[in-house]
Amino acid sequence: MNKKTIRDIPQEGLKGKKVLVRVDFNVPLDEERRITDDTRIVESLPTIRFLLEKGAKVILVSHLGRPKGKPKDEFRMDPVAKRLEELLGRKVYKANDCIGEDVEKLANALREGEVLLLENVRFYAEEEANDEHFAQSLARLADIYVNDAFGTAHRAHASTAGVAKFLPAYAGFLMEKELEALGERLNNPVRPFLAILGGAKVSSKIGVIKKLLEKVDALLIGGGMSYTFIKAMGYEVGTSLLEEGMIEEARSILAMAKERGVKLVLPEDFVVAPEGKEGVETKVVAWNAIPPDMGGFDIGPKTVEKFGREIAQAKTIFWNGPLGLFEVDLFAQGTVEIARKVAESGAVVVVGGGDTIAAIKKAGVEKKITHISTGGGASLEFVEGRVLPGVEVLLNR
Ligand code: ADP
Ligand code: MG
Repeated sequence: MNKKTIRDIPQEGLKGKKVLVRVDFNVPLDEERRITDDTRIVESLPTIRFLLEKGAKVILVSHLGRPKGKPKDEFRMDPVAKRLEELLGRKVYKANDCIGEDVEKLANALREGEVLLLENVRFYAEEEANDEHFAQSLARLADIYVNDAFGTAHRAHASTAGVAKFLPAYAGFLMEKELEALGERLNNPVRPFLAILGGAKVSSKIGVIKKLLEKVDALLIGGGMSYTFIKAMGYEVGTSLLEEGMIEEARSILAMAKERGVKLVLPEDFVVAPEGKEGVETKVVAWNAIPPDMGGFDIGPKTVEKFGREIAQAKTIFWNGPLGLFEVDLFAQGTVEIARKVAESGAVVVVGGGDTIAAIKKAGVEKKITHISTGGGASLEFVEGRVLPGVEVLLNR
């Protein structure tokens, strides 16, 4: 890691200091505004506890949902404050705004070891616009800035990047963990290094595919994106997901893999159906025999076996993208079986992508995965080799 973390802050450097921590508390809420998954809050606890133990005054800031730059009651942070209080086992003060005189008073009234959660930072359009004055207003609340929100680090917003212009900026432990897992582990992998890519579209993953081709020994492609590759090889895909505009791109990826000596493995068979919904009749067909009036919604059993053999040999695995329409139980089997094989592989396993994580959870194997990234888009951009604005602004070692 070439960025300074909160461990690099000199001894006593935190005692009595106000520390503004950008966290990712963008948790899913149900209709009664109950938190349905508190993973993101739990993941931020090591950083918060560390700062509190060192005698800092912790000021937390996050976004929640998409209030589109205006204060809206359904996006207030109160449920988060309550859950954080339960998890931390100590009082969490909650501000009704994130900048301004009243908030400054609250921040200044904090004592060592106390926690203040600011109101949703996206109640201001200035946040996403990375407005300098707004960033300065946030900075005015504290002495030190910590970014622990990996999930929004690919955005140059006031609370993720702008504020670092006014305060010394450090990475939190979650940020550090993410950067190490997605950076170090994948850049210097224990080999063989296998990537599994799926999901709906080639177009949204093109950068990731190309970058991974430079690093991996083998690449398994499944899910909706595989049909564009099959079309590129000259076969019909029926009503399966197909990106006409990506056929050329798929062809060049196939050529690139060959050139680099990367073993690119496509599905051997598919589960096809007239429609992608529960209760329809399905059948398994060979990869190059999809009927014209049917679409592929899952990988077939031969593919599960074939992919399984590659997974068993791998020492490092990166997985992004479900291998079928896994939200529909009828088409979840391929993805779930691959998730189990990945979990049992004994390899270092790094998983990124919102839907892929949901699939891992559906398979019930999340505890056996080395690293599950909390960042969807951010993890893919990072693997793609892009510089994340929220990381770039942190102090260098
Ligand atoms: P992630 O969020 O993990 O990056 P994506 O958003 O790229 O993953 O893709 C996930 C979506 O792709 C899921 O909604 C899944 O149902 C869909 N998908 C995967 N395979 C197929 C398929 N064969 N047909 C239709 N949709 C598919
Ligand atoms: Mg997705």
